[in-house]
Amino acid sequence: MKANGKVTLKPGDTIGILGGGQLGRMLAMAAARLGLRCQVFAPDPDSAAFDVVQHATCAEYADVEALELFANDVDIITYEFENVPSAAAMILGARRPVLPDRKILETTQDRLAEKEFIGKLGIGTADYADVASAAGLRAAAARIGLPAVVKTRRFGYDGKGQAMLRGGDDIERVWTELGTNSAILEAFVPFEREISVIAARSADGQVECFDVTENEHRDHILKISRAPAAIPPELADEARSIAGRIAGALDYVGVLAVEMFVLADAGGRKVLVNEIAPRVHNSGHWTLDGASISQFEQHIRAIAGWPLGKPVRHGHVTMTNLIGDEIKDYERWLTVPGATVHLYGKGTSRSGRKMGHVTRVERAPGGRSDPA
Ligand code: AMP
Repeated sequence: MKANGKVTLKPGDTIGILGGGQLGRMLAMAAARLGLRCQVFAPDPDSAAFDVVQHATCAEYADVEALELFANDVDIITYEFENVPSAAAMILGARRPVLPDRKILETTQDRLAEKEFIGKLGIGTADYADVASAAGLRAAAARIGLPAVVKTRRFGYDGKGQAMLRGGDDIERVWTELGTNSAILEAFVPFEREISVIAARSADGQVECFDVTENEHRDHILKISRAPAAIPPELADEARSIAGRIAGALDYVGVLAVEMFVLADAGGRKVLVNEIAPRVHNSGHWTLDGASISQFEQHIRAIAGWPLGKPVRHGHVTMTNLIGDEIKDYERWLTVPGATVHLYGKGTSRSGRKMGHVTRVERAPGGRSDPA
């Protein structure tokens, strides 16, 4: 399985997936199509990914014995969320290859480390400052200017752990409500649009990027993705090249997503990186039905040591998330011509919970695929 330190799986081998949400579920389904098995490790007995695998470990990430048994059962380990506790990653990494490498999590779990890493590559981000107190927040706001966005350094997602800071706001109160002693203040970016690039990198350094995706958020949660993004080709090339450089600098193996802002000013348009997600990503769900290979298959191929696919997009693709109670609409979506419905099998729909998604592909005239 491991020749010259390089992982190569063969059909029938088992991939361990940490995390049992819809991303783990869709990874396991893609692996199954390639003849690979998956075992999912997640603490929640209702994990969406448990439904699609034969073997699951339902245990806490701090349960050392469960982690060791899990590692013994699988050939390699990957993860579907970036907040894998470092102790768990270390225990697993001592027993089996963990891909992408667990060291990458140290950079991507901390917004400050991530921004410094991106800056060192000469790639633009919003102006930012490290903040550890209300006084520090006041000083940072004076330097960066308002409005600005204050974000906890760790454990933020879907707009959680962040707050907008505007002129006249009570800084002490905003800081207390954030409930942390380690944050960053980021200049507010008056973006024209938000885009992301889903990139895959293999162990031997091959990089394949999907077409740039344009993303619309509602209440800080992704609602709609469109591919390709309506941006000039040079900007799309720049966005893909940024994602490739980030993947290369991390010596990354697998799929990652780079979220970016497109800023339009007098000097033209430019791209600033907002965030790196070291995993498959919601803005890449369109690839399941809208491209010759999905982000999930691409990730499985990369970590299995198999050649990456060269993705060809099937047309203009729209992905719409079904969030919370919108899942009640699934029967209507089933009747929409051309729509492909994905339901994650989650029992209860809480507000803001991603319950499924719908993809629609508009083919180019004559039924031909758009070039990739
Ligand atoms: P994040 O958790 O950093 O991905 O932020 C979630 C969403 O908040 C982003 O997709 C943007 O819509 C918005 N946002 C985050 N940071 C900024 C910023 N510096 N300027 C403007 N909007 C932002």
